[in-house]
Amino acid sequence: MTDETMNDKRVLLASPRGYCAGVDRAVVTVEKALEVYGAPVYVRKQIVHNKHVVAVLERRGAIFVEETDEVPEGATVVFSAHGVAPTVHDEAQERSLRAIDATCPLVTKVHREAKRFAGDDYDILLIGHEGHEEVVGTAGEAPEHITLVDGPDDVDNVEVRDPEKVVWLSQTTLSVDETMETVRRLKERFPHLQDPPSDDICYATQNRQGAVRALASRVDLMIVVGSRNSSNSVRLVEVALEHGAKAGHLVDYADEIDDAWFDGVSTVGVSSGASVPEILVNDVLDSLAERGYGTVEPVVAAEESLLFALPADLRKDLKARGVPFDSKVKSDAGASLR
Ligand code: SF4
Repeated sequence: MTDETMNDKRVLLASPRGYCAGVDRAVVTVEKALEVYGAPVYVRKQIVHNKHVVAVLERRGAIFVEETDEVPEGATVVFSAHGVAPTVHDEAQERSLRAIDATCPLVTKVHREAKRFAGDDYDILLIGHEGHEEVVGTAGEAPEHITLVDGPDDVDNVEVRDPEKVVWLSQTTLSVDETMETVRRLKERFPHLQDPPSDDICYATQNRQGAVRALASRVDLMIVVGSRNSSNSVRLVEVALEHGAKAGHLVDYADEIDDAWFDGVSTVGVSSGASVPEILVNDVLDSLAERGYGTVEPVVAAEESLLFALPADLRKDLKARGVPFDSKVKSDAGASLR
């Protein structure tokens, strides 16, 4: 590496990044549930797809389970931000569980669209990743009407009853570019395919991808903080590579950063998925500074101000028991999750 390259070492820090309104609400829901009902509070599936968040909540008394039948009768269970099928609510009721639904309101919006189009007897083509919890939950709203389309290469396999009455919906955390390609191919096969009433890929996914797109062509190395099972985090690495980053890696923690990545690298891009607390990004920035990348230049692609209220049942219980809470969840970007 030349002296000139050494002096050029810097970080481009994507904004927005990290916590979205739905993740913030889900994490605070578990924290407040622990405060008001006491430990243990059961959580069906990972509350959000982030290793660190799950580990910290476990330490505080949350017990993560895969299915509701693992929760003792009468106990409290929180449903994750990714949403659940109606059958899961039924099971919880049968077992007399106190169920608190932390499904992101933007996922609930897609559930409502699925129910409405199924009620009007449409075939619904749900673009998403097979097996992802959100897709399982949305498909569960209208299993007889929904066909999963897992990316552009899956389009040729799709069968519908009436090509004049078909609509597409999508998972909230997909790649915008790839989804548009899937839709383009679907429209070639089904020219009457209807669009969703509004974007299903949520604002947070779009904004985080937009910020990475804005800096990707200027970076030699892109580091995205996020877990491997976090769809939106994985997409950010893909978006960076598609838009010009020379290399890209996903890390849960700063100590996964490898010295071998930095050969000939002058500019490092940094972002984080929607389920990632900012403390983990700060650890990555500290680690980069130790390697000589101490100059940090923000690249701001959008401003965000969306906040959601906590689930109504929880708000009622917090109020009744005098536990203080904000009327809308205000993100501290997971500052408490050390
Ligand atoms: S990524 Fe989007 S849909 Fe998912 S929790 Fe965040 S705001 Fe909601």
